[in-house]
Amino acid sequence: MNKDNTLRPLVALSRSREGMQFIIHRGARQVGGSCVELNFNDSTILLDIGLPLDSDFSDDPEFYLPQPLFNELKNGKKKIDAAILSHAHLDHYGLAGMLPTGVPVYCGKASAELMAITGQISPEKTQPLELQFFKAWKEFQVGAFSVTPYLMDHSAFDAYGFLISAGGKSLFYTGDFRGHCRKAKLLDHMVQNPPKVNVLWMEGTLVGERTNELTITEQDLENQFASVIKKTPGIVLVTTSSQNIDRLVTIFKATIRTDRKLIIDFYTAEILDRLKPYAKLPLASWAKIRVCYPQLLARRFEKLGLDDILVRHRRNGIKWTRIKEIENNAVMLIRAGFLYDIKRFLGLEGATWIYSLWPGYFERSKPLRNLKSYLEDKGVRYEYMHTSGHAKLEDLKKLVDAMAPEMVIPIHSFHPDKFKDYFPNVRLVNDGEVVNL
Ligand SMILES: [Zn+2]
Repeated sequence: MNKDNTLRPLVALSRSREGMQFIIHRGARQVGGSCVELNFNDSTILLDIGLPLDSDFSDDPEFYLPQPLFNELKNGKKKIDAAILSHAHLDHYGLAGMLPTGVPVYCGKASAELMAITGQISPEKTQPLELQFFKAWKEFQVGAFSVTPYLMDHSAFDAYGFLISAGGKSLFYTGDFRGHCRKAKLLDHMVQNPPKVNVLWMEGTLVGERTNELTITEQDLENQFASVIKKTPGIVLVTTSSQNIDRLVTIFKATIRTDRKLIIDFYTAEILDRLKPYAKLPLASWAKIRVCYPQLLARRFEKLGLDDILVRHRRNGIKWTRIKEIENNAVMLIRAGFLYDIKRFLGLEGATWIYSLWPGYFERSKPLRNLKSYLEDKGVRYEYMHTSGHAKLEDLKKLVDAMAPEMVIPIHSFHPDKFKDYFPNVRLVNDGEVVNL
């Protein structure tokens, strides 16, 4: 009896939730590991469910689950209708495999391809996701929520922001975006035809200490690449992400302009091949491209039973001894793991190494530092050429001005407090804080 009395008000309280509420489980004050819960009446959705950027892959993913959310999902205290993923960067989707079985996970089809290949080569095996695919600008319904995905310009292929409506309120979640690269017109279009929203969760990776990060266009970058390749008498080595498709296109175009051959590894060839249905991208079968087989990478794929990938690109393959012969006519994508083959086969005379990634990776990766010091010792010229995957301040301002939201919530930023210096109606929240709208 006494027990009933104490329980009753609690039950009444949990049912009395009216209107909309949200909780940023992670990402209110950090870049990476984003996860937002949105509730309206009996419907609950999650926007992204990422791994923190500083996560260590040898750790158990359980360690990184945002709490108390996952405990509540596990013990049935909370149920979610779906998780909706903005793009295929691990800091936005990396923990989706830890969701309870049966929870639908919505994403773009090309993002699913990228997540699948990353999953295939990860040592950590998680349960397969119950995927549902959305299409850009095609509204879909999850419980009480109407969701419209907006294709965004970002360093991940197939990245989206979401316009979400329920109970007369509209909210926009930007995911990661920028307005300065090959899909820049997407931001222009949104600024000219802004959805009217009450709440805007806006990424602010470059707000604060990273304000001065390079935000040149991929076209400018292509010109820079072409000019460096032209000036280089030997091989041009390039380190970038094999999943940064815009960058691969930039490198390919600069290679063609300078009349060289582009050498990619079989993993990059596989990614381009899988994305073939979604965009016109350079492919390993093209005459100007050849595929190399770095030994450690190939062994890793064999060990994982991914022989089919190895075999698929053999017909476009090039031997390391042949690469050595054509060094002065080649641009080659390399990663830290290729050092073994580079040492063994390449002369590197008159070579240039272009590093085209966030420079912060040097601090995090010892193999990358080893690669750098080897190339330095060999007298290879070093060039840093990059442009950020994230929006510069000016573009963030454009978006806020156009949408004129009642509330701007910083997310995916290490400096949310700085938002108040640049945007009106900023509401600072903490991870785990319940915000009623
Ligand atoms: Zn991203």
